[in-house]
Amino acid sequence: MTTDDLSDVIDNDELKSAEGETEKSSKKDDNDDYVGICSICKRTENPKGSMIKLPGNINICHSCMQRSFDMMNMFGLDNLNPMDFSIFSSDKQKTPKAEKEEKPCSAGDEKEKNNPNTEKKEKDNDNGMPFPFGNLRIVFPGQFQNQKIKPKKEKKENNSKSFSELSLKDLPAPHKIKAMLDEHVVGQEKAKKAISVAVYNHYKRVLHEADEKSEKDEVTIEKSNMLMIGPTGSGKTYLLKTLAGILNVPLAITDATSLTEAGYIGDDVESVLSKLLANADNDVEKAERGIVFIDEIDKIAKKKNAHQRDVSGESVQQGLLKLLEGAEVEVPVGSSSKNAMVPTTTINTKNILFVCGGAFPDLEGIIKNRLTKTSGIGFNADLRDKYDEDPDIFSKVTVEDIREYGMIPEFIGRLPVIFSLKGLDEDMLKRILVEPQNAIVKQYKKLFAMDEVLLEFDDDALSEIARKALDKGTGARALRAIIEEYMLDIMYEIPKDPMIGKVTITGDYIRGKGSPVIGVRE
Ligand code: ADP
Repeated sequence: MTTDDLSDVIDNDELKSAEGETEKSSKKDDNDDYVGICSICKRTENPKGSMIKLPGNINICHSCMQRSFDMMNMFGLDNLNPMDFSIFSSDKQKTPKAEKEEKPCSAGDEKEKNNPNTEKKEKDNDNGMPFPFGNLRIVFPGQFQNQKIKPKKEKKENNSKSFSELSLKDLPAPHKIKAMLDEHVVGQEKAKKAISVAVYNHYKRVLHEADEKSEKDEVTIEKSNMLMIGPTGSGKTYLLKTLAGILNVPLAITDATSLTEAGYIGDDVESVLSKLLANADNDVEKAERGIVFIDEIDKIAKKKNAHQRDVSGESVQQGLLKLLEGAEVEVPVGSSSKNAMVPTTTINTKNILFVCGGAFPDLEGIIKNRLTKTSGIGFNADLRDKYDEDPDIFSKVTVEDIREYGMIPEFIGRLPVIFSLKGLDEDMLKRILVEPQNAIVKQYKKLFAMDEVLLEFDDDALSEIARKALDKGTGARALRAIIEEYMLDIMYEIPKDPMIGKVTITGDYIRGKGSPVIGVRE
């Protein structure tokens, strides 16, 4: 495209003066072999494409012009509707559409110029220069100053989870929280009671502080984070998940093993808050009322006889102190560690409930030692093996035991509510199979019911499955794997035969001595 074409296109007072100048310069071109120089990159005109000439004797080459518009796109100046200058670069590069659009403005086509529709089109482009190229228009630097650039608003996803606002009025009382937990979690009565009371108190404090009508006095209730001790598969995570569901607050479940001191390979401690923020749909206010569960907390115990810097143990405990205490923390958004490229936001952890959980495998020995030591010597002395069979040994834990285990006093001090979960016995495992709202047996029954087959487990079968799970030593987690193993063949065979209407799993089938009892459809 030549300068003359451009002057046809540009039609305002400012440009008319420019037009004179450009005409002059084009005449000069013809006479003096004048070569234009790009005002930005200082390169001379090349045969592939002439310069774009702007008022004030400004020449800009196509690549600089295109780069400028690319930059505008990049910085979100899209309300300026930048134009794509690639259509000017050379005849070869012109798209058929661009060519079609360019035609009406060709020098001799007076008919099209006088066409009222074309004029209307030009007037529609009211923000920039009138320009008959559809949506394209030229914007001059002066116009940027008058344009207000709206910051891009982050769109909220429509399917985002909504955490209803908790209020003091509808905060369930501890006995109601426990009753709801009972529907999902079998046994663990002490733990359920402790957690119900602690959570009730926590949210009562938070909501009371937030309530503007409530009287403010000098007594401030401190927050009570929790430490949960219990063997693997005893329901620690499950308890917390159920609780967060009941209260409808965001929950983040993280693993202490992945945390390291800032600057070392691994996640920074602040990453636990990043997760919470993500689970609260990046709503800082909601995240600030959420629950954070840090599992495997026993794995960050102070290393004994460590001669090196303990970056994944004691240092992580130190790093977590400020979060547990309640502080304004800079949190990386969408990343597990802070660096210059990651945006951050500030979260106040004052009202976030932190629950730490761990299996503390060697803690049993520490508790037993203390108990036998303190019970004295002589006839009243307890024998060490008295506690060997105690399934509830963790309920006798004290702060000193946990300190001896390797947790630093400042850390334990910030977790004032300590409670334990029992190791699951055969009876509890059997109940877990059938009682919870979402029990495994209920899930399989539903699967079979979809094929109109009735599935039954006799009592002997349930006991046998529980016994096998107990032997594995991974708590209730083993149950699903065991059932899956025995159900595989049945689930493969049953849909083959439409006459089968009932399947009963017997103890003998689980012991490998028989097969399930099949009932025929009536
Ligand atoms: P952990 O104590 O290691 O965190 P989890 O809470 O992850 O164990 O338990 C694993 C699974 O076992 C849970 O998903 C849940 O289905 C089941 N489970 C464990 N304990 C119980 C329980 N007391 N009542 C019902 N289900 C349980």
